[in-house]
Amino acid sequence: MSNHHEYIGNKLFEFVDINQEGYAIFDANDFLVYCNKAYGQIMGFERNEVIGKTFSQILAMSFEAEKGVKTEHKDVGSFLARVSQQWRSSQYRLFEVETHDGRWFLLSELANETGDVLIQTKQITEQKNLEKKLLSSRDKLRRLALTDELTHVANRRCFVESVEAELSRCQRLRKNVAYMILDLDYFKSVNDTYGHQAGDEVLKHVASLVKETLRDYDIFGRIGGEEFAVFLGQTEAKEALEIAERIRSIIENNPLSHQGVRIQLSASIGISLAYAMNCSYVEMYNQADKALYQAKNEGRNRCVLYESYCGG
Ligand code: GH3
Ligand code: MG
Ligand code: MG
Repeated sequence: MSNHHEYIGNKLFEFVDINQEGYAIFDANDFLVYCNKAYGQIMGFERNEVIGKTFSQILAMSFEAEKGVKTEHKDVGSFLARVSQQWRSSQYRLFEVETHDGRWFLLSELANETGDVLIQTKQITEQKNLEKKLLSSRDKLRRLALTDELTHVANRRCFVESVEAELSRCQRLRKNVAYMILDLDYFKSVNDTYGHQAGDEVLKHVASLVKETLRDYDIFGRIGGEEFAVFLGQTEAKEALEIAERIRSIIENNPLSHQGVRIQLSASIGISLAYAMNCSYVEMYNQADKALYQAKNEGRNRCVLYESYCGG
């Protein structure tokens, strides 16, 4: 090597040695032959504690001492198995790790022709935290866009989208489906008598009563002010009527206690049934709405089934 090369080599080494980012070299037999102070610190140890150890030994030390690289694995065996699967899996690899002290690093792993591996780290904690913040506000926005703020059930948009998806699934399976609209009776007078806040409490109360009554796979949402809707996939007429009647009676039998007063409630329910093959969301909605209108006219606090069968 020329003097110049040697000079540059020494300078490079000096800079690597004092670098804030970690550098480590493992030989072809996986022994750590060199690392700078920063690398040792990332792994949770002084460098003299790790130099001379194998890659697996260092990871095991980190695992036992709960220092350095963090892992979801419960035992050291499965942690090492997972890591060794990826270790040297290609000539150049980039991956992210989190350390026990809450920092994140981007690691690169570069192998040369004789099988030595150079590890370099780059701290990315700030970027990672920003990314987490962005992801969580994206999730929050998504939730806000899909749930009704007051009752925390699906809002109209979410409800309609879910029903349309489920309807087409039921169409493929040639199933019968049911749709019901539930409208609180004389709800305006709840607001007028007890105040708007009491009205809001009633809506929350009713939403949770209905939700508890339904099965996990039924679709439920608030589609208007004091109107809720339920879609039952793969449901026969008898079952749909039973469910509607159960909801009606639960609302009647569970008045809301609000600031010491008992607010008696009831709801009218319009139901439409369809053979999913021949039916659209709008048709089902319109038929249930007509049945609801009839329930109101006949005195409220009742379930009415739309009599002619959609799609027949
Ligand atoms: P009916 O038995 O015919 O359904 O009578 P109703 O009084 O329930 O029907 P109407 O449609 O006249 O009244 C609905 C009322 O619901 C009017 C509106 O002030 C109230 N409302 C709509 N959204 C909300 C809400 O988010 N909170 C509260 N407190 N009231 C609401
Ligand atoms: Mg209404
Ligand atoms: Mg009403």
